[in-house]
Amino acid sequence: MKEIYFLRCRECGEKYPNQPQSYCEECFAPLEVSYDYEALRQTTSREAVSRRAFNMWRYSEFLPLPQGFVPSQPIGGTPLVKSRNLGSRLGVKNLYFKNDAVCFPSLSFKDRVVATALAAARRFGFETIGCSSTGNLANAVAAQGAQQGLDTCVFIPADLEPAKILNTAVYGARIVRINGNYDHVNRLCTQIADKFRWGLVNVNLRPYYAEGSKTHGYEIAEQLGWELPDNVVVPMAGGSLIGKIAKAFAELAHLGWVEPKQVKFFGAQATGCSPIADAVKRELPRFTPQKPNTIARSLAIGNPADGPFALRLIRESGGWSEDISDPEIIDSIKLLAETEGIFAETAGGVTAGVAAKLIHQGRIGADETTVVCITGNGLKTTDAIAADFPAMDVIEPKLDAFEALLREQLKETVNT
Ligand SMILES: *Cc1c(COP(=O)(O)O)cnc(C)c1O
Ligand SMILES: [Zn+2]
Repeated sequence: MKEIYFLRCRECGEKYPNQPQSYCEECFAPLEVSYDYEALRQTTSREAVSRRAFNMWRYSEFLPLPQGFVPSQPIGGTPLVKSRNLGSRLGVKNLYFKNDAVCFPSLSFKDRVVATALAAARRFGFETIGCSSTGNLANAVAAQGAQQGLDTCVFIPADLEPAKILNTAVYGARIVRINGNYDHVNRLCTQIADKFRWGLVNVNLRPYYAEGSKTHGYEIAEQLGWELPDNVVVPMAGGSLIGKIAKAFAELAHLGWVEPKQVKFFGAQATGCSPIADAVKRELPRFTPQKPNTIARSLAIGNPADGPFALRLIRESGGWSEDISDPEIIDSIKLLAETEGIFAETAGGVTAGVAAKLIHQGRIGADETTVVCITGNGLKTTDAIAADFPAMDVIEPKLDAFEALLREQLKETVNT
């Protein structure tokens, strides 16, 4: 059987066979996986997908997987949670959280992209895999690399959160800490991929990696009852996820699985690293790279590879982009936890806080259906909020001590 997918240049359209390559030789623009949708239509249906286990592999036909691929882990399939409290507090009726903070196996949406990248890595015969990472990607590569028995080497900026480093080391991955920010790390990885026969998931395997993000989008549509939302609010680092959610929605509409709809795409960034939001807000034709300085390390990419495409998508969809400060990120993490019982990492604080801002600005309407993408788990970035939660008093294991404590607390609440 002929393969139904191949690589294609996003700018000039030049086609390439499947291979570990991420840039067009003609114009140096990024390559993307394209599909023969007429062939795809013959191989799958909404009904067939609905009968499968609820994880990302139920959409296997839409992914660039080798023939005969057998998944080894149930990745994705995360909850879409309807807001019970935050939506009414903000004055909107249909607010949802797509909660990849509980993605299996490493608690971020990066599990999805690593799943498709490693399938490609095996197909191309790489024995060593790796990545340049702002944290979550290293976690996901290390976890799945260990499970698949691959030699794993990840490259990270030296100042990453300790929990993200530990969450990589525990799987036995080799870790190379670089004195520099993500953009320096990524540049080094491009050179390494040229020189060594290694499969770096977001470098030479990037087209295959990025396709995994589409499953976040398919799941949203299916969980809304095979309907597209009016708005999605998506955190942006390299700017890939936002475009892949759009691609997923467009594919489902093209195949007739959902009614076509003009979904507005809203990109969320931290003010301390907001090249895309800055370009949207100042209506610039292209973004200016920035030097990141924010607690939202997972989004701290100052020169986003897919930034130009994210910018175009946000504009053409009728959406917008906003950013919030580090103190606002912390407040938003707490607000999301207190109102919805979801503990997100700093990137989730960014998304929730930006969603609130867009609602206040009137860019997101009260009667519209809005999905806020929560992409990583709060347990990985506890250092960002630890100072807000000092240790509480210790009492003796005696009833009168407890009653005294209660009286004390009552006094405090009366006084404040
Ligand atoms: C990587 C990452 C993102 C952004 O992904 P891009 O596709 O690079 O824009 C968002 N949230 C979290 C938690 C991430 O780790
Ligand atoms: Zn090209």
